[in-house]
Amino acid sequence: MSEIPGIDVTVPPSGAGCQDCEEAGGWWFHLRRCAQCGHVGCCDDSPNQHASGHAGVTGHPFIRSYEPGESWYWNYETAEMYDGPELAPPNHHPVEQPVPGPAGRVPDNWQAHLH
Ligand SMILES: [Zn+2]
Ligand SMILES: [Zn+2]
Repeated sequence: MSEIPGIDVTVPPSGAGCQDCEEAGGWWFHLRRCAQCGHVGCCDDSPNQHASGHAGVTGHPFIRSYEPGESWYWNYETAEMYDGPELAPPNHHPVEQPVPGPAGRVPDNWQAHLH
């Protein structure tokens, strides 16, 4: 198996939702998964942008979409899409989990909070 710096295909995702929003009691729009350590964070449209925050703090260069039916990568170092390998499952959040999510924490006017 070829090794790509910044991508570890053996690491499972951290959970079903944004790890940081779960700790803070927040909510998210779309989810992204760090391809190096498995951290699941929220997208740049989300109120708290935890996926990009994680990349900024850790230097982990790749995220992959954690949305059902999506498999694209983003490379923070080049600011370009990336065509990466399959990662350890699951490759998306549970399909019954709402978008935005999680259930019960999304305000009625959530669209006003997007970036
Ligand atoms: Zn978040
Ligand atoms: Zn990471």
